[in-house]
Amino acid sequence: MFKNFIGGEWLDGPKVSRNINPSDTRDVIGEYAQADVAQTQAAIAAAHAAFPAWSLSTPQQRFDILDAAGTEILIRRNELGELLAREEGKTLPEAIGEVARAGYIFKFFAGEALRPGGESLPSVRPGVGVEITREALGVIGLITPWNFPIAIPAWKIAPALAYGCCVVFKPAELVPGSAWALAEILSRSGLPGGVFNLVMGRGSEVGATLLNDPRVSGISFTGSVPTGQKVAAACVGRMAKFQLEMGGKNPMIVLDDAELSVAVNCAVNSGFFSTGQRCTASSRLIVTEGIHDRFVAAMVGRMKALKVDDARKQGTDIGPVVDQSQLGQDQEYVGIAKAEGATLAFGGEHVERNPEGQPGFYMRPALITDTTPAMRINREEVFGPVVSVLRAKNYEEALQLANDTPFGLASGIATTSLKHATHFKRHAQAGMVMVNLPTAGVDYHVPFGGRKGSSYGPREQGRYAAEFFTTVKTAYTQA
Ligand code: ADP
Repeated sequence: MFKNFIGGEWLDGPKVSRNINPSDTRDVIGEYAQADVAQTQAAIAAAHAAFPAWSLSTPQQRFDILDAAGTEILIRRNELGELLAREEGKTLPEAIGEVARAGYIFKFFAGEALRPGGESLPSVRPGVGVEITREALGVIGLITPWNFPIAIPAWKIAPALAYGCCVVFKPAELVPGSAWALAEILSRSGLPGGVFNLVMGRGSEVGATLLNDPRVSGISFTGSVPTGQKVAAACVGRMAKFQLEMGGKNPMIVLDDAELSVAVNCAVNSGFFSTGQRCTASSRLIVTEGIHDRFVAAMVGRMKALKVDDARKQGTDIGPVVDQSQLGQDQEYVGIAKAEGATLAFGGEHVERNPEGQPGFYMRPALITDTTPAMRINREEVFGPVVSVLRAKNYEEALQLANDTPFGLASGIATTSLKHATHFKRHAQAGMVMVNLPTAGVDYHVPFGGRKGSSYGPREQGRYAAEFFTTVKTAYTQA
């Protein structure tokens, strides 16, 4: 059994959960400990006890630990990628890429540990000096989703440790394997006991305990909107700091003047790769009249050639959906779109077995055309390989449709017009804007996050991560 890591020790949980391969549901990856409330509280206590010393650790100590962890992750990228693909279902190249990203994130924040910055300036009063510094926030509860089993934990854990915080990490129930492997690396990294703790288990038990414990100073959450709202309510109730990354209904505009192959590549990549299970996935393609029919025909042509199969098999373009419940949701939305009068231009079928006969949660990517802005398929996040197409008269209408959503994470445009690209970058109501690039697939050294219903609180990643994991102190000195 894979155990929880609390106060520097590996501990059995009161229960266990089985980690199942979505590419072959007969394949059990392992049994993982499930913490309860008491064990979560023990992890919080360990983190709380470790905080005073860790918050005063030297930049060199933090650099060495994070850099070594990053190096090991990068060296083991193929093996860890294999595990990730097996438990989550993204293809092996995607999984290896995600692991590498996690390694580089640790390297980036190793460097940031050496650059805490600060300001020194004269006071408005004579003989007085002012210093502005950042101090570690405290014990942070990290709650992560299943769709990026190592990158999202990395982009929360690495900055937390770099800025001197202690961590209680609760991974998503469906993907404990990558979380455990990352914890195992950190357990050998030289971190003092209690600085980093892994508590696998249920959201309603482990997660809820983190939200409500007064020793936890901040919660960094990525997941669904309803859970994000619970996180916010609990944190506001006790004045804890929180940051939320939630859903998206990301648009990609395709203008008449777009390079057709660029537009199709962007749409297929960000709509269907990683099985559409990315919060930055393009799920609404907003296409102007002059290119609409050619674009839809080219999309269907490309989609016919996409291989949906075992995530670890060479040549697979799209792995399975993560589990039965997500597959049910994806299928349900295809049905809702048809019932609302849209056309299923391609795909959408559940495929029960791959060519080798493995039972898995396979689904052909779905393209839905003839949709209107009010349809549920254009308003609600599906989180699967389901993409809708909206027709627009011109750029102005396309922009209006792109922004007509309660979300605001990523927004893309395919165009060869400098004028429209420039206007779009300024007027897209989203945290991230892409021109002639997929909306999904971002760098690891720059801020990540959105607006409106997609995100709340300071940005993650890059130097902006300091905003959440530190608190500012202004010190005055009379010489
Ligand atoms: P998804 O299943 O799409 O990833 P969720 O919001 O359900 O989205 O889950 C994201 C994370 O939040 C998971 O780690 C989950 O266990 C956790 N979680 C779910 N419910 C709660 C809750 N009530 N309190 C705290 N965390 C929760």
